[in-house]
Amino acid sequence: MNKRLHIEVRGCVQGVGFRPTVYRYAVEAGLAGFVLNALSGVVIEVEGAEKAAADFVQRLRAAPPPQARIDGFEVREIPVTGERGFRIARSRRSGDVKAGMPPDLATCEDCRREMFDPADRRYRYPFINCTNCGPRFTIIRSLPYDRARTSMADFPLCPECRAEYENPLDRRFDAQPNACPICGPRVVARTLPEGRELPGEAIDAAVARLRRGETVAVKGLGGFHLACLATDDAAVARLRRAKGRPHKAFAVMFASLEEVRRHCLVSAEEAALLESPARPIVILRRRRGSGLSPRVSPDSGDVGAFLPYTPLHWLLLEAVSPLIMTSANRSEEPIASDFAELRAAVSGQTAPTALDHNRAIVRRCDDSVLRWAAGGPLPIRRSRGYVPAPVRLPLDGPPVLACGAELKAVFCITRGADAFLSQHIGDLADWNAYRFYEHAVADLTGLLEVSPEAVACDLHPDYLSTRFARAAGIAPVIAVQHHHAHAAACLAENGQTGPALAVALDGTGYGPDGTIWGGEFLLAELRGFQRLARFSPVPLPGGDAAVRHPDRMALSWLAAVFGEKTALEAASSLLPSLDSKQIELLLRVRGIPSRSPLTSSAGRLFDAVSALLGLCSAITYEGQAAVRLQSAAERFGRRPDPWPVALVPGGDGLLEVSFASVLRAIAGGPARGARKAPDCEEAAARFHASVAGAVLAVCERFREMHGVNTVALTGGVFQNALLLEWTVEDLTRAGFTVLRHRQVPPNDAGIAYGQAAVALARLGEKT
Ligand code: ZN
Ligand code: ZN
Ligand code: FE
Repeated sequence: MNKRLHIEVRGCVQGVGFRPTVYRYAVEAGLAGFVLNALSGVVIEVEGAEKAAADFVQRLRAAPPPQARIDGFEVREIPVTGERGFRIARSRRSGDVKAGMPPDLATCEDCRREMFDPADRRYRYPFINCTNCGPRFTIIRSLPYDRARTSMADFPLCPECRAEYENPLDRRFDAQPNACPICGPRVVARTLPEGRELPGEAIDAAVARLRRGETVAVKGLGGFHLACLATDDAAVARLRRAKGRPHKAFAVMFASLEEVRRHCLVSAEEAALLESPARPIVILRRRRGSGLSPRVSPDSGDVGAFLPYTPLHWLLLEAVSPLIMTSANRSEEPIASDFAELRAAVSGQTAPTALDHNRAIVRRCDDSVLRWAAGGPLPIRRSRGYVPAPVRLPLDGPPVLACGAELKAVFCITRGADAFLSQHIGDLADWNAYRFYEHAVADLTGLLEVSPEAVACDLHPDYLSTRFARAAGIAPVIAVQHHHAHAAACLAENGQTGPALAVALDGTGYGPDGTIWGGEFLLAELRGFQRLARFSPVPLPGGDAAVRHPDRMALSWLAAVFGEKTALEAASSLLPSLDSKQIELLLRVRGIPSRSPLTSSAGRLFDAVSALLGLCSAITYEGQAAVRLQSAAERFGRRPDPWPVALVPGGDGLLEVSFASVLRAIAGGPARGARKAPDCEEAAARFHASVAGAVLAVCERFREMHGVNTVALTGGVFQNALLLEWTVEDLTRAGFTVLRHRQVPPNDAGIAYGQAAVALARLGEKT
């Protein structure tokens, strides 16, 4: 007897080759019916023998297309209609695409094989793609996702490409960016800044220049990179000088996983991340004697490695590798996305040649960065390859625009229980980054077809994102304390609403008590929190400038621990970067509350320790002192016993975690070398162990008191894999359920997501 089934599949099921797969399975099973893209996903109706229909459902569930993510799968029986044949029906026009805004996907194996096959019509064609791979987010002008609304609209399909595009059984059926050498985009090598096209093979020209140590600008998926040979020390040094970036690590693109393994240690999990379709930069431990220039990452033993993700990258890297690939921009500005922007950002002296192409980048998008830490992926930057796929929230409500923090700015828009996080935008204090932010908010709101009914922002009144929120003309405005947002992000991405003990170890966050928070222990739920404990606060001498000068923070700690007089003497030997005049002035400023706000920041504590150990007195990028401290601790190679950390009652009834004895030990006791300071690497490791120990001690103190056994670890300091590993280890051994970040960064790029969760919780409470 024949049956007809109505099937609705929800999730990321559009733009990933879902309909062709359904078509193939249905035809092979001898079923009639149709498949179409609809409002919330894909709708299928199949009709035929009962067993064939059941087998079809089972097969589709078991083997959906590789890039699909299925969130819902509903099957119900409906009356048979006697339909014959199976077809892919025209999409329902309106709202059709709400389900389908896929992220950019790295070149798939099939396409790569074809590209290197001399017999293939796309042999060495740098824009080969199919329904399983290729650009998406970065080429979509508007929705529905259709070629005419992408930057591929400028390239009418040739007859052969059209045939593929229209054949449901072809791998390129409905592949919007489908192209070939006859009809598609092409690469050109140009001179910078003139833009004069170089004669001959463009890729060969770029390869020749890279081989002789030059920097070449390469147009990728989400913007231009500056590329140079990562094994050529002089070339890397030149690029560092040109970019004005003396120390911050450069990412390196390798020609294959085997090549990554020759330079770095790669676990099975890290290999899987490297080869995932998002192709993020994965931070790996570098092998000794790897042959990479030590200037690639001078501050640590790590290398940010990634694999080619566009056909153009494959062609380049096949000829010359490994290559540094760093975004082409001026310091904190957004990545250049066309030749005009490139020319404005990069001089001809830096990169005399650009490998350009004529497929426009509609939406710029930087590379994503993550590492494997404490048994899971730890995102550092969530951007290309992940955006705009939503992150789920544990609750839903009206659409909310969450404006995020200020550094590493990312905003977020909710639709139901889906949070759509923006790509990495950068430091909003930069004018161009701020313009990009404004533009991106309008862009994503439009793509999602939502009008936010509430706006969330940080409590910090001067964050540009806060000002943006207040000027957005949306009410209500929901202000969320910075570390509550961090905590909420960690809870929400783990599907929880709290209460939990949240440990927010962070750089800087606005505290409602007039101090700068950053070493916080909160009893947190999504809708609210209670501050239970903090790192004992010390003055941030002279305010923000001390963030760029860890030696000033170290001096402040010396004064806190030994008193001003002894600090003055100790500093002259321990902090050689400060002369006696500066020390005196800083100590005086330190005593003026209006110029030296108190801070409980864990990030500043790491800075102080790093400076006291002689690792970093002034930074050239955010987090540098902590990176060097972590690296020193890792060189020690094992986990030493911690120094004792005291839990003491603070003046306002909060518990305080005092690191005074730790700092005393690190400074080597009172001045004049009364006791020799411990070996730097051992001290760095003991410091990490002490922080982990302090976290455990505080959590144990509050576990009974509040009846909470779940701990959420969040804040920028938890990008530190060593600290995360030791903390998770301790808490787990003590029987805590530990929540850590896996989808959203623990740093300020995760703030918007946390704000959104808090806003929905508060909005839900009112009704
Ligand atoms: Zn492909
Ligand atoms: Zn073609
Ligand atoms: Fe933060």
